[in-house]
Amino acid sequence: MRLLLVEDDAMLGRAVLTALKMEGYDVDWMSAGQSALHCLETEDYDLVILDLGLPDVDGKNVLATLRKRGTTTPVIILTARDSIEDRVGGLDAGADDYMVKPFDQHELMARVRALLRRRSGRASPAVHYKDITLYPEAMKAEYQGEGVELSRREFMLLNELLHNIGRVLTREQLERAIYDWGQDVASNAVEVHIHHLRKKFNSDLIRTIRGVGYLVEKA
Ligand code: CA
Repeated sequence: MRLLLVEDDAMLGRAVLTALKMEGYDVDWMSAGQSALHCLETEDYDLVILDLGLPDVDGKNVLATLRKRGTTTPVIILTARDSIEDRVGGLDAGADDYMVKPFDQHELMARVRALLRRRSGRASPAVHYKDITLYPEAMKAEYQGEGVELSRREFMLLNELLHNIGRVLTREQLERAIYDWGQDVASNAVEVHIHHLRKKFNSDLIRTIRGVGYLVEKA
């Protein structure tokens, strides 16, 4: 497993690097956004750990650039910024997980393992529903024969709903399906993803059952 660590704080960077190496990962460590982007262009990584506050390019821009290139490599963001807006912004930009500094190394290692496991366990067949097809392995979606750009969480949310056709799923069930245990989730995160999914497919795809949850009806 090859990991990219992007962190400009020398002490923290060294500590994370050491912990990752002890877990047996190959790690490249960059301390600036530009060099990270260069690495991401030339190398294949299984996971990226990305600090948001970098001396040159903001970590969020690094992430946005990465996703714009179509790279689906899981990204864990490290940040001292503890506000809800920053978290939602980072998740919308395509991050898979979040660690707020100061954090526990063991927790970071557990999240790295969880994301790598999730990435490798996705060998499931395509899901068809009406004129939508999901390819879980590639995390790609098609609607009426055309590719649709989905964030990782949007994809996971839709995948969960399409595996439960005709069943109402509560917001908590959906949160559990797309966030790791113990992760702080903005209270409206699921609503925001559903809103985006309706815009990208059609507004009738996901029904809101007021006070209960969400439903994709039988075709
Ligand atoms: Ca920093």
